[in-house]
Amino acid sequence: MTNIYNFSAGPAVLPKEVLAQAAAEMLDWQGSGMSVMEMSHRGPEFISIYRAAERDLRELLAVPDNYKILFMQGGGLSQNAVIPMNLIGNGDATIDFVQTGSWSSKSIKEAARYAKVNVAATAKDNGYTFVPPQSEWKLTPGAAYLHLCTNETIDGVEIDFVPTAQGATTLVADMSSHILSRPVDVARYGVIFGGAQKNIGPAGVTVVIVREDLLGKAVPYTPSAFDFKNVADNESMYNTPPTYGIYIAGLVFQWLKRQGGVAEMERRNIEKAALLYAALDADDFYQNRVQKEYRSRMNVPFYLRDESKNEAFLAGAKERGLLQLKGHKSVGGMRASIYNAMPIEGVQALVDYLNEFAGR
Ligand code: PMP
Repeated sequence: MTNIYNFSAGPAVLPKEVLAQAAAEMLDWQGSGMSVMEMSHRGPEFISIYRAAERDLRELLAVPDNYKILFMQGGGLSQNAVIPMNLIGNGDATIDFVQTGSWSSKSIKEAARYAKVNVAATAKDNGYTFVPPQSEWKLTPGAAYLHLCTNETIDGVEIDFVPTAQGATTLVADMSSHILSRPVDVARYGVIFGGAQKNIGPAGVTVVIVREDLLGKAVPYTPSAFDFKNVADNESMYNTPPTYGIYIAGLVFQWLKRQGGVAEMERRNIEKAALLYAALDADDFYQNRVQKEYRSRMNVPFYLRDESKNEAFLAGAKERGLLQLKGHKSVGGMRASIYNAMPIEGVQALVDYLNEFAGR
């Protein structure tokens, strides 16, 4: 059988070893006589799974002791409301945003329901092909925080620096689609969040890493299950957490540690991205429109110059076991997502096909 390589943007490919282990443990987790799905979240078995997952994620990202790691529900999108509710306090706060693509745009729209928003800089007029330089960001003195989407999954734009321009402002980062793909200096952020379904595990788990001094300030109308302090005080078990998803995430964390952690992931991701972008840039048959220094290592959108060949391209890809390459409906074209669990062999297979299809 041909090898199958899945380039979905999320839910996305998971390490084969993780899926095999989950299958082996499906009916009976480590002699407990229960599937993880059947366990009480308050029982010793699940608590041990939870604590190991929390500990391993903390180790992988070197999360300092003054940060809480929360495993929540609601997806990345819910955090666009949950974070304002938790951070704006009771005044008439302003939230600053840098608009670099579709996901930061959604965050702006949602936050505007709860606070004043200021788009400090935008790349909208340029079709989201770069990150506006920090020198042009028009930040609000005393803003509640500055929100960035550090990897725009649809537009393929990655912010690979930590802003210095924010002054005293708290930084909030949506890292949904590149968390764990590279080391990150957590101490520079107030909140880091991400839906799990790209680099962490199945959909349904939302990871939030929050600095402790930001807890306990939620506006009174915040749903209690989404008040960071409640969630933190109860080890993410204020209400029933997404137990099975946390278990799979824990297996992914163990897999990452066996591979050599995020530093090794970054090395591999640089190599994979370089291979793919080189094939796209080889001539003008394909086109990635993002300025080189802002190109995402995780999500690679591209267009065929001759878009009438799109269907043929996708059909040929499928025949070769290269799946889910169709671009997001809002931008069209193609997109190859090459998360941690995508082996270089998968990227090489895609590159071989790109060359073949272009008649090179
Ligand atoms: N932020 C980013 C960067 C994303 O890629 C996504 C999902 N693709 C979201 C937020 C929304 O996440 P969810 O669908 O889990 O709500």
